[in-house]
Amino acid sequence: MSASSPRRRSSRKAETAHRHADESPAQPSSAVFNDARAEALADEKPIRYIIQNLERAYGVPVNRREQGAADPLDMLVRIILSQATSDTNSERTFAALKKRFPDWNAALRARASTIAGTIRSGGLANQKAAVIRDVLRQIKQQHGTLDLSFLHDAPTADAVAYLSQFRGIGPKTVACTLLFACHKNVFPLDTHIFRILRRTGLIPQKCTDRRAHETLNRLVPEGKFYSFHVNLIRHGRKLCRPRQPLCEQCPIVEYCDYGQAVI
Ligand code: SF4
Repeated sequence: MSASSPRRRSSRKAETAHRHADESPAQPSSAVFNDARAEALADEKPIRYIIQNLERAYGVPVNRREQGAADPLDMLVRIILSQATSDTNSERTFAALKKRFPDWNAALRARASTIAGTIRSGGLANQKAAVIRDVLRQIKQQHGTLDLSFLHDAPTADAVAYLSQFRGIGPKTVACTLLFACHKNVFPLDTHIFRILRRTGLIPQKCTDRRAHETLNRLVPEGKFYSFHVNLIRHGRKLCRPRQPLCEQCPIVEYCDYGQAVI
C-alpha cells in the first residue's frame, strides 16, 4: 500500500459531527469542535499518511537532543528568546545570555535592563527580559532552586500544567519546551502550522489556540510529534505559503480541503 493510497472516508461518526455542526449555525465553530468532532476528523483525515508523505518530501527530522540530556530551563529560555525573530538571532542571543549569566541565579539577581541589554539583538528585548526574570523568580519561589530537570520524568499532563501556570508562558512555549527538551508528546503550533491545519481541514477556520493544541495532541501518533511539527514548518515555508500556496506540487494535496478545491 502506498503512502498516499488510503483516501478520506466519511464515517457515520464524521457525518454526524458535520451534521451537528451544520445544524447549529449560531454557534461559533470552536464551540462545536468537541471531542466527537476531533475523533471524526481523525477518522476522515489519515494523519499517519499525511505525516508519511511529508517525511517522503522533506525527510525524517530527528531531535538530536538526547532524551534527558537537554536542560528544560535552558530550553524554556531559548523558546522565549525565539519569539518574533529568526533561529540564528535567537541562538545568538541565547549564547550571549549564557555567557553573561552562566548560572540562572545570576540572571535572577540582575536588573531586567541588564538582561535586556544582553539580548537586544534578538528583538523585543525589554519584554523578553521581563518574562525571563519573572519566570525565574516564580520557579525559585516554588522550588527554592532553578532546576526544572524533574520535568523529564513527570507525566506529560503534569509537565504541561506546571509550565502553563507561569505568567507570560503560552501553550506554544510550553509545547516547544517539553517536546524539544523532554521528548514529550506535546504538539507546538505556530503561524505556519495553523495555516496548514486550517487549509487541510484538520482544524476548523475558527479554533482557539487551546483547542487546536488539544486536538493535535490527540491526533498525532506516538513518536511522530517532532517529525510532524518540523515538517509542517518546512512545508509552510516551501509550498504552503501564506499567499499563493503551490498546491500542484504538494505531497499532501489529496488530504487537503483547500488543495482539492483549487487543483
Ligand atoms: S494542497 Fe495547497 S493548501 Fe493544501 S497543504 Fe498543500 S500547499 Fe497547502
